[in-house]
Amino acid sequence: TKHFPVRRRLRDLFSKEHDAVHAVDDVHLTLRRGQVVALVGESGSGKSTVARLLAQLYPRTGGDIQLHGTSTTVKGGGNFRRYAAQVQMIFQDPFASLNPVHTIRYHLTRALRIHHNAGDDLDTALAELLTRVSLTPPERYLDKFPHELSGGQRQRVAIARALGANPEALLADEPVSMLDVSIRLGVLNLLRDLKERLNLAILYITHDIASARYFADETLVMYAGRMVEGGDSETVTQTPAHPYTRLLIDSAPDPDRLTGDLNPLDEDRGNGEPPSLIRPPSGCRFHPRCPAAMARCSTDLPVRLEIGDAPGHWAACWLYDKAGAQ
Ligand code: SF4
Ligand code: MG
Repeated sequence: TKHFPVRRRLRDLFSKEHDAVHAVDDVHLTLRRGQVVALVGESGSGKSTVARLLAQLYPRTGGDIQLHGTSTTVKGGGNFRRYAAQVQMIFQDPFASLNPVHTIRYHLTRALRIHHNAGDDLDTALAELLTRVSLTPPERYLDKFPHELSGGQRQRVAIARALGANPEALLADEPVSMLDVSIRLGVLNLLRDLKERLNLAILYITHDIASARYFADETLVMYAGRMVEGGDSETVTQTPAHPYTRLLIDSAPDPDRLTGDLNPLDEDRGNGEPPSLIRPPSGCRFHPRCPAAMARCSTDLPVRLEIGDAPGHWAACWLYDKAGAQ
């Protein structure tokens, strides 16, 4: 088990930045308050990289991240600092994101001190944060250390800490995949409840497309560093258009389960491995694995095409090129 203090962990992330910067391309997404957007893909699809780019833990080589229509590009600028407070990240492993030598009180106090007015009553604010994530009574948790809590309780603390910054958006990278199956739904329901009450925007990153349907308003599917399909979650999961999305759904262990411990495209299942993001396949990046691949697929990069069955449903796949094959 790794128990990295937060700073160490961030340094580890930065050391991977050179691989990561080349890893994602042509990624567009908009987070709106009161909505959950799911970013779905298998490991290595670049979905975590997108979250870290959005959290500005990685530098970008291009593109822009805007907050309320204003660029946040200038690091150290006022808008960057405002963005950093308003967009908070929740990591997959709450143990790694909490410092083992410090109590819950310490973690939450730091979050509050950084972002709140000095005049606020600290004890009240701490109790409020823990109550918001249903760790009650707060006195039972405040002076505990991370290892004295269960995995689910630690993730709730990590969520409380994120809320301490009074954010507008949460970036949740596989927030339940390391938790016991029996408590995953509780944590997702907590996030959904917080979204409603605090009018948060949530980016929900997952390999589990069934949970996206349950939890997210909009679903975006990533493959090999590119977005391949998007639309409202119901449409994308019920009538998937892209062959990769279909494969994801068909190979999920049980579509009604919220969990999916297995990588749905595990190589043991005979579906092959996701390609390297450093030197991705030409044309459509999915063409080496695609059951519907045509001649042009290995040379032409597909553009986003409207499917037409529901507003906003699109796929980057030549099957939907109404202008016909070349
Ligand atoms: Fe398959 Fe071609 Fe569509 Fe890519 S563009 S998903 S290879 S049919
Ligand atoms: Mg990941």
